[in-house]
Amino acid sequence: MTGRPLDATGLLRDEAEALMAELGQSRYRGRQLFQWVQARRVTNLGAMTTLPRTLRATLAERISVSRPVVVREQRAADGTRKVLFGLRDGEEIESVLIPDEDRLTACVSTQVGCALACRFCLTGLMGMRRNLTPAEIVGEVLALQDSLEPGTRISNMVLMGMGEPLLNFRAVERALRILCDEYGAGFSPRRITLSTAGHVPGIRKLAASDLGVNLAVSLNATTDGMRDRLMPINKRWPIAELLEACRAYPLPQRRRLTFEYVMLDGVNDSAEDAQRLARLLCGIRGKINLIPFNVTPDLPDRPSPRERIEAFQRILCNAHLTATIRESRGQDISAACGMLRTGTDRDSTAKTPPTVKSEPKTG
Ligand code: SF4
Repeated sequence: MTGRPLDATGLLRDEAEALMAELGQSRYRGRQLFQWVQARRVTNLGAMTTLPRTLRATLAERISVSRPVVVREQRAADGTRKVLFGLRDGEEIESVLIPDEDRLTACVSTQVGCALACRFCLTGLMGMRRNLTPAEIVGEVLALQDSLEPGTRISNMVLMGMGEPLLNFRAVERALRILCDEYGAGFSPRRITLSTAGHVPGIRKLAASDLGVNLAVSLNATTDGMRDRLMPINKRWPIAELLEACRAYPLPQRRRLTFEYVMLDGVNDSAEDAQRLARLLCGIRGKINLIPFNVTPDLPDRPSPRERIEAFQRILCNAHLTATIRESRGQDISAACGMLRTGTDRDSTAKTPPTVKSEPKTG
C-alpha cells in the first residue's frame, strides 16, 4: 500500500461499488460496505461480517473508516448537548444536539473557524482555519448519532454550526449526498437546512443542484450600511443582490426560505427596521426567525429587550409575514446561536480580524 488509505466515511455509494469492482468483486459488495459504514456506523472492518474474511483483509490495506473523536460533551439545563470533536490534525470543531418535543436536531459544523467575521458570532473571531472534508462532515453526524441512547435518532439537521457551508460547497454537497443515501443514514433533504451568511454564488449553485435541502439566509440588517458593519460579506454581495438570488431560488410547493435576524439592542431592532424588512421581503416565500442575541463578553452587542423583539414581530405579522421568535437553546453551555468556538480562542479575546475573500474558496 502506498500513501494514505482511502477514507470510506467520505465515499459515495457508487464509489464504494466501483472500489469493489476494481477489486474483482460484485458491485453489491460495495453497497454492503457502504451500509456497514453509513447505516450501521461500524468503523472496524473486521466487524463487517457479511463481507468475506479475505475481502476484509484486502480492504484493510486499501481503506480506513474515520470518525472524529469526542473530546468533551456538555449538557445544558434544557437538554441541549454540545460536543467538542477532535480531528486527525489536532483541529477541533463543535456540534450541538438540540432536543425538542418531537424532533432531535443536529447543528453541524462545516469548517474549522470561519472567514466571514460576523460581528455577533464567536466562530467569526477564530478566523478561518480550514475546510472540513466530506468524511469529517459525515463523521461528525455519525459520531453525534453514536453518542445517543439506542432508539434515539437525529431527525433534523441544520448546517449552522461553525463555518459558512457555501464556502465549502463541494465537501458539503458530497457529505449531504452520502447522508441522504437511502442505504446509509437515510436523512430526508426536507429535514436538512443549510444556513448561509449570504454567499450569493453559493446560493445560485445550491439552487442549480438537485440536493433539495432547505435554505436559510442570515440577514440581520435592513440597510447595506448596517449590514456591512454586522456582516462584512455584505460588502461583496449587498442586500439587493442577495435577495435577488433568494427570489430566484426554486422552492418546491409548501416550502419557504428562512430569514434569520439576530436582534441587537439599538442596532437593527427599530420599528423602521421592521418596516424596511417587511418591504425587502415582500413577494419572497419566506419566514423570519427573530433570534435573541446571546450575550458574551467577547462580543460588543447587547440583546434587544424582549418587548422590542415582540414589537418587531408584530410589525412583520401585520405586514402579513410569518415571523417567529426563536427560543435560545443551550445558552448556559455556550451552545446557542453564534456561540461556537474552539481551542485556545475559547478563552482569548485577542483576535486578528479575518478578511472576506472576494472569490470563494470552495471544496
Ligand atoms: S455567523 Fe456563520 S458565517 Fe458568520 S462568522 Fe459565524 S459561522 Fe461564520
